[in-house]
Amino acid sequence: MLSQSDNQIYDYVIVGAGSAGCVIARRLSDDPAIRVLLLEAGPPAKGFWIDTPAGMSKLFRNLRYNWGYFTESMPTLRNRSLYWPRGKALGGSSAINGMVYVRGNRGDFDHWANLGNPGWAWDDVLPYFKRLENYPPMTDGPLSVSDPSVKHPTAADFIEAARRMGIPTVHPFSGEEPESAGFLQASIRNGRRHSSYEAYLAPVRDRANLAVKTGMHVRRVLIENRRAIGVEVLQDNRLRTITAAREVILCAGALNSPQVLMLSGIGDGDALQRHGIAPVLHLPGVGRNLQDHFVARIQWASTPESSYNRALHGWRKYAEGARYLATRGGYLASAASMAAAFVRSSSEFSYSNLEMSFRPMTFTYHASGAVEIDKIDAISASVYNTRPASRGEVRLRSNNPLDAPLFLPNLLSEPSDVQTMLSGIRKLRAIVSTEPLAHRVISELTPGSASRTDEELIDYLEREGQCAFHPAGSCKMGSDAMAVVDARLRVRGVDSLRVADASIMPTVTAGNTNAPCIMIGEKASDLIRADQQPV
Ligand SMILES: Cc1cc2nc3c(=O)[nH]c(=O)nc-3n(C[C@H](O)[C@H](O)[C@H](O)COP(=O)(O)OP(=O)(O)OC[C@H]3O[C@@H](n4cnc5c(N)ncnc54)[C@H](O)[C@@H]3O)c2cc1C
Repeated sequence: MLSQSDNQIYDYVIVGAGSAGCVIARRLSDDPAIRVLLLEAGPPAKGFWIDTPAGMSKLFRNLRYNWGYFTESMPTLRNRSLYWPRGKALGGSSAINGMVYVRGNRGDFDHWANLGNPGWAWDDVLPYFKRLENYPPMTDGPLSVSDPSVKHPTAADFIEAARRMGIPTVHPFSGEEPESAGFLQASIRNGRRHSSYEAYLAPVRDRANLAVKTGMHVRRVLIENRRAIGVEVLQDNRLRTITAAREVILCAGALNSPQVLMLSGIGDGDALQRHGIAPVLHLPGVGRNLQDHFVARIQWASTPESSYNRALHGWRKYAEGARYLATRGGYLASAASMAAAFVRSSSEFSYSNLEMSFRPMTFTYHASGAVEIDKIDAISASVYNTRPASRGEVRLRSNNPLDAPLFLPNLLSEPSDVQTMLSGIRKLRAIVSTEPLAHRVISELTPGSASRTDEELIDYLEREGQCAFHPAGSCKMGSDAMAVVDARLRVRGVDSLRVADASIMPTVTAGNTNAPCIMIGEKASDLIRADQQPV
């Protein structure tokens, strides 16, 4: 294969135009003297179903915009291999995700700082959340954070039932409360998905000092004398090398950033050698510490007015489509969940370790990959274990950069995670059987009210539990032997190389992960600018 050099010189080469990468490209290129290149393996994200929030279901298995990964089979989950979607487009996973906007909890970030990461405590990161959010009149950042287009009465009753169970009602969620329930905000602007690309880069694409290139699969980082000097990229079957005068910043996400590091010779030395890769630096933490929220979905048959399933079937579906086109509102403008309760599974936890996200509707994942709204009147909620103890790993499958990495998330491998999920299902059932929600429910559909004992519920978790699509932690920030980056996100032992995306989280945040990744991008851009040395 021919290797060509790109004659253009860039100060910073950013790998991956996802939630974090787009932010860094925007913030660094705010300085016209800095030349920035953003490389994305996927295509531009365009089209009606990308823009329309309800289009999330159409993107779920769409391999044009989605890497469409699968985990290895997991003994803890009856040897099931779980589907793990990841965005592959400008915007990354924020171009295909459920758009729910949650900062995470004060406790998450204070914990990061306590683990030896100065500058990442809640009081340090809160200004970055405020800088990124656009929620007038409170904040005026680039990313629109909006209230639900429809506040369905059943979701309001879920929040009130949670309140009667002792969970305080808030709006908006601030991240300060140990437990809380309320309507969820979403990264939606005027009824359209607001990916990090749309928020940060679309408005500045004409900048002379910013190049954004799609269809560029980065194979590895080029390292000379323990310094990153550029990247090797596959574009239309041709190999190119691109030079970075100052730094290479990996923002390829929690599943691909460790892969690119390992392909570059940075990782566990023995494992690299087994794949025929000459180790540049033995950094055994690369790919380890992988975490995701484990999730179980509970569904109930409901009274007709309690569910909006019918609004999306038959002739009503067309009426709903017309409503969306005319007003950019209605159910097609809704995020993946409408309301949530952040709850502690037991008093051992000082802040929530469960998220219960609620929808006055239900859907079915078909084997074909289609996601279909059910025709019956029904409502649902997902229980997430947001502070899991189980840890997994990303490994290389081969030394071929085009092969998917190998994923072993080991979900539910720690007994405490099983206990958390059992508590979560029981607490959710208690909320749903509290008024004013209780009278709306006819019967539990899944797992069904007959599933009551620990054994019966564990059986359900093992058969039906899923990944939450919030992988994190695989290049963790810290100072112990397994840390991959330091608190300034610099890869330990290599100059001019950083990682800035979900993989740097030492522990996954206790909520949906898009907002924290955008915050990481904001903070990373300040760290990079502060560390800028003359070339
Ligand atoms: C289906 C789904 C639903 C979700 N729903 C929500 C939600 O409702 N709310 C929420 O907060 N979070 C949600 N998430 C999670 C959230 O979107 C992610 O945590 C977040 O987007 C991750 O950001 P990131 O910057 O780490 O990586 P990503 O946004 O995934 O970006 C990584 C980018 O790098 C590119 N890339 C990878 N490898 C290479 C390579 N070798 N060369 C070049 N480019 C490369 C990828 O194509 C991608 O564009 C969801 C995720 C998914 C997949």
